[in-house]
Amino acid sequence: MNNGPGICPDCRRRVLWTRTLPGATTPGGKRLAVDPTPHPEGNTAVRRDGTTAWVSRRVTEQQPLMGYERLHMPHPATCPNQQEQLPLQLPQNVVRLDRRRTPRGRS
Ligand SMILES: [Zn+2]
Repeated sequence: MNNGPGICPDCRRRVLWTRTLPGATTPGGKRLAVDPTPHPEGNTAVRRDGTTAWVSRRVTEQQPLMGYERLHMPHPATCPNQQEQLPLQLPQNVVRLDRRRTPRGRS
């Protein structure tokens, strides 16, 4: 099982594969890709377990970020190819420029 730096299969960007720790609402043990660089607005605490495995967990009020963890953005929140499953990401008033092509072929 891959763990550590890798590539997102959807957008081919660099990600960090982690194993999720059990949380208050999640069983843990899943794979989660996070963006490779820490992000102050992320919601996922990432640390190295021992020397090899990268583990992550959801930061909550009851379980805030610890000094040995870094805050990362979960990659599904930023992946351009996974946004269709997450319609909450785009505000209503965003205009998609790719639908506004100018007609070609006028003579
Ligand atoms: Zn991706």
